[in-house]
Amino acid sequence: MKSIAIIGAGISGLYLANLFKGNKDYKVTIYEKKNLTESNEGYGIQLSVNSVEHLNKIGFDSLTEEEKFHPKKIDFYDLKNSKKICDLEISKFNLENCKYTALKRSKLLQFLIDGLGDEIIKYNYSINQIEYGKDATNLTFNNGDKKTCDYLIISDGVFSKGRSLISANKSNAIYNNFIAIRGNISKENYQNICDENVSLFLGSDFHYVVYPLDKDENFNFIGILKYKLNSNEQKNHKLFDENYFIKSIKNKLSQKIPLRIFEKIQNIKLFPVFVSKNFIKPPNNTFLVGDAFFAFPPSFAQGASQSIEGAHELYESILNNNNFFNMRTKRVKMINRRSNFNQFAFHLSNPVMIFFRNILMKYLVKNENFLKSYLGKIYKN
Ligand SMILES: Cc1cc2nc3c(=O)[nH]c(=O)nc-3n(C[C@H](O)[C@H](O)[C@H](O)COP(=O)(O)OP(=O)(O)OC[C@H]3O[C@@H](n4cnc5c(N)ncnc54)[C@H](O)[C@@H]3O)c2cc1C
Repeated sequence: MKSIAIIGAGISGLYLANLFKGNKDYKVTIYEKKNLTESNEGYGIQLSVNSVEHLNKIGFDSLTEEEKFHPKKIDFYDLKNSKKICDLEISKFNLENCKYTALKRSKLLQFLIDGLGDEIIKYNYSINQIEYGKDATNLTFNNGDKKTCDYLIISDGVFSKGRSLISANKSNAIYNNFIAIRGNISKENYQNICDENVSLFLGSDFHYVVYPLDKDENFNFIGILKYKLNSNEQKNHKLFDENYFIKSIKNKLSQKIPLRIFEKIQNIKLFPVFVSKNFIKPPNNTFLVGDAFFAFPPSFAQGASQSIEGAHELYESILNNNNFFNMRTKRVKMINRRSNFNQFAFHLSNPVMIFFRNILMKYLVKNENFLKSYLGKIYKN
């Protein structure tokens, strides 16, 4: 039996452990730095059909319809005048039991944890050192504990310590001059939007998305705001919890969206958006997955979906001895290009460019060939 050590109990690590758990040839253990997996009750996550298809293989379709939301369309609005630009029928990529899904992040994590026995996740284990022996990989954790494994899977997120360790700190994610603003807002504050859809508002250097998470009365709010940080601010991990900083971002947000909406957003939390700039090819029997493999700009909502898809690909590659790194790199590059393009198009400031963008969008969202190529290549594995 081969031993597999997974670093990080996030979406990719938990999903991968669920796959290996059912395979008698492998013994899997997850080492997680926190003392309990972060739940972030209330905040949402969107999953496109490419990841839902994989999640269904471990029973995700057994969650009740009350616990999730399946949007029919994405409605695009111009933030300046709140007028609808166009809509994109996202549900056309759905399969019978496999639909574009939004749900609480905590619900997804709990589902993934419930699939594993008590013994599989070891909490309070932060990776400190990775050494390669002749027959096994040796791991040292911050609590002094040492472990060995046949396969090492690094899934510790965008600020991956594991990735830093195997690349001698040469490959850290970089700040991409955007801040993600997460919150909740009651549906009653939006009279003119369709609550069967995801609503996406495009503004200058800013866009935001609202959508329901389940059958309750709240929308998930997620805004992406252009904001430069100096190098000291980028290194200050406490900055995003400091009251003065939160206040200054709220102030900027209040200038971007109507005050009646701004004043009703609750539980605001800020995240700096860090993205990857390059790929790291790890040594034999070591693999990166999820944001540790590559972190995208958030404008295609593919981070979690790619974490799941990548974990599934890795599982198959280990079983069949395929070249995971080459396959994943090719796909990630394609999705990263589209995410960067979306970010550019969503945040235009020049009125002439906005005028032409809106005309083009109206045409493209109804063009089957474009949809098949731009979205279909991502949503269909
Ligand atoms: C505001 C926001 C909204 C988002 N919305 C969406 C969305 O709608 N759709 C979508 O697809 N994606 C979304 N994403 C992106 C998505 O959340 C990530 O891409 C995804 O969570 C990455 O999964 P992961 O498993 O790679 O890492 P994570 O889920 O970040 O998990 C990493 C885990 O590793 C642990 N860890 C960290 N360091 C160590 C260490 N040294 N030792 C041991 N363990 C460690 C962490 O505690 C954590 O549990 C969003 C991200 C943000 C910030």
